[in-house]
Amino acid sequence: MSKRVVLIGHPVAHSLSGAMHQAAFDSLGIDAKYELWDRTPQQLADAIAEIRGDEFLGANVTIPHKEKTVPLVDRLTEEAHATGAVNTITREGKRLVGHNTDVAGFRVALDRLVGRQKMPRTAVVLGAGGGGRAVVYGLIAEGFQRVVVFNRHLHRAEALVRHFGRSAAHMELRAMPWHESIIEAELAKTKVLINATSIGLSGDERPFPAELLPPDLLVLDLVYNPPTTRLLRDAEAAGDTTLNGELMLLHQGAAAFTLWTGKPAPLELMQSKLEESRAVGLEGSDAAAEAAAGASAAE
Ligand code: NAP
Repeated sequence: MSKRVVLIGHPVAHSLSGAMHQAAFDSLGIDAKYELWDRTPQQLADAIAEIRGDEFLGANVTIPHKEKTVPLVDRLTEEAHATGAVNTITREGKRLVGHNTDVAGFRVALDRLVGRQKMPRTAVVLGAGGGGRAVVYGLIAEGFQRVVVFNRHLHRAEALVRHFGRSAAHMELRAMPWHESIIEAELAKTKVLINATSIGLSGDERPFPAELLPPDLLVLDLVYNPPTTRLLRDAEAAGDTTLNGELMLLHQGAAAFTLWTGKPAPLELMQSKLEESRAVGLEGSDAAAEAAAGASAAE
């Protein structure tokens, strides 16, 4: 029986995961189809229930469902439990296991961003959703001593800080209100800026005016499609070092692939598929993802 793996999100059309995973399945002779399922929050529980069927190897979960998926699976791995967010699901018989491979992907991206410099100890994080949680967990694990989280709705950043309470007891983890003057003051004191909001995913929005960016920051935008967001262009103009979310996508995807198949991921092939999709631009990459997803892309 041909197996199925699905990406559950809302929206999913921007995703390059279909192109990357389908090429990986095909190259290893794994008879599986990667499908894109656009599901609203109201449809999430039914979608998760559906993947308990024998034909499913598992799933990816993306914006905005990573936190809401936590109570819908039967077991959480340590990282999914610690972050309170699930981006990958595997099956153990009829039981579903929630994983968080964003953490591993983020740590690879952070290492690339920092390069040969000494690992910094201070960061500003924009966003407190599922991606923001993986980022903050990765920063704590990396030994950061001060991390400030800004979120449009402050209560969500405060919930994140409470969630990490014990694991962040040795350092300063703070939630702050999204005011430009406060963001500017914090950026002046930090070394690393990470955008874990969906600003830039559609349209050409920036999170704050370009003038707030000091030079010599290390800036990571989790958004990978489009590959160069307004934030990253502003940061380059300010003299900052920048990286988009593609490397994180690749490595979270590689970890998920191994969890579903038990096989090492063909990293180079997956990377070249991502590059190919990027080269043809947003329109083309959607088409590639849809092609990879076959008829199910229309669901
Ligand atoms: P999520 O759980 O739905 O969280 C979305 C976040 O974006 C929240 O913090 C939300 O703030 C914020 N946001 C949305 N629209 C905003 C706006 N107009 N102004 C200010 N803040 C806004 O989604 P997620 O899973 O964390 O994903 C967030 C982004 O990270 C997406 O672009 C996703 O593609 C990217 N991501 C990339 C990777 C990768 O591998 N490269 C991995 C994970 C995530 P509120 O709470 O105030 O609504």
